[in-house]
Amino acid sequence: MKDLLWDEFQDAVQEGLVRHRSILDVVTKLQDSHVRVAGAVFKSATTCGCIRINAQKPQVPPDISLQQLKTYMDDHIEGELCAHCREVLEEEIGRVLFYLAALANLLDINVYDVLIKENQKVSALGLYHMS
Ligand SMILES: [Zn+2]
Repeated sequence: MKDLLWDEFQDAVQEGLVRHRSILDVVTKLQDSHVRVAGAVFKSATTCGCIRINAQKPQVPPDISLQQLKTYMDDHIEGELCAHCREVLEEEIGRVLFYLAALANLLDINVYDVLIKENQKVSALGLYHMS
């Protein structure tokens, strides 16, 4: 059975989107929401300090398999988000979802259908998907 939560959300966004109905506004707001997510991540490191971003070139031996490569890749995050930074980031991710739903509405795309297709691709391709 199809989960209706996303469909309900898309409908609610459709109803709630009054001021920024133009595709131009919606695409701009969606891009802006992505920038805000990145800003929230960086502020967690540079303003709050609950996480540290410690990035360096990975030391990968030659001739290893893609499966082995995974173990040499680092997420470059030290520490954990504090409650405040988590709340801010969740809010910004929510904004991305809102404008993603708004864009999908304007172009008659059902994001839940996209999610199902993407899940099938990830499940089928595993490691090779978007690597
Ligand atoms: Zn924090």
